[in-house]
Amino acid sequence: MRTLVIDHPLVTHKLTVLRDAGTPAPTFRRLTDELVTLLAYEATREMRIGPVAVTTPVSPAEGGKLAGPDPLVVPVLRAGIGMLDGMTRLLPTADVGFVGLARDEESLVATTYANRLPADLAGRDVFVLDPMLATGGTLETVIGILLDRGVAAVTALCLLAAPEGIARLDAAFAADDPPVRVVTAGLDDHLNDQGYIVPGLGDAGDRLFGVV
Ligand code: URA
Repeated sequence: MRTLVIDHPLVTHKLTVLRDAGTPAPTFRRLTDELVTLLAYEATREMRIGPVAVTTPVSPAEGGKLAGPDPLVVPVLRAGIGMLDGMTRLLPTADVGFVGLARDEESLVATTYANRLPADLAGRDVFVLDPMLATGGTLETVIGILLDRGVAAVTALCLLAAPEGIARLDAAFAADDPPVRVVTAGLDDHLNDQGYIVPGLGDAGDRLFGVV
């Protein structure tokens, strides 16, 4: 599995404001949206294109358009919903599927409570949206579901990742065939004993949508 930590001044700036406990929910949502669009630029770099001829006002030209089948974007409920608009703005032809996992706060084990994916996933490039790659349990489950359905490649977009989560995905998807990638705005220090990323930004779902 490959991990790409985006090193860019705009990403650093926006992530730092997100981390700030004093940043209110409306600003947090807007910055998440902007960050996802910056991550999406890198996350889509390996998408396949097919040659296309166009006629400009001046002359014929050779171009390229995204090759089929249509990509799929999968926000992991609930916090991944906060990343959906930023992703589909850049990839408007994508279908959207939903997977919901809830984490038991004591055991930290995630169970699947929703799985709404298109019938045919064969050969598709899939982009999974999950702001916090903590233990890696959620992403291991979601990526496993997608690989079992014959997708071409999976790229997870995360605002922040912990080394423990990266190591778990590395072990689970060592073969990298089909390719599995993580694109993140930051790789933090560790997980605390409640499973929060340190220094992190707290509970991403609560900061986006309020405490449940
Ligand atoms: N989920 C979150 O929202 N935050 C963390 O730090 C870890 C998991």
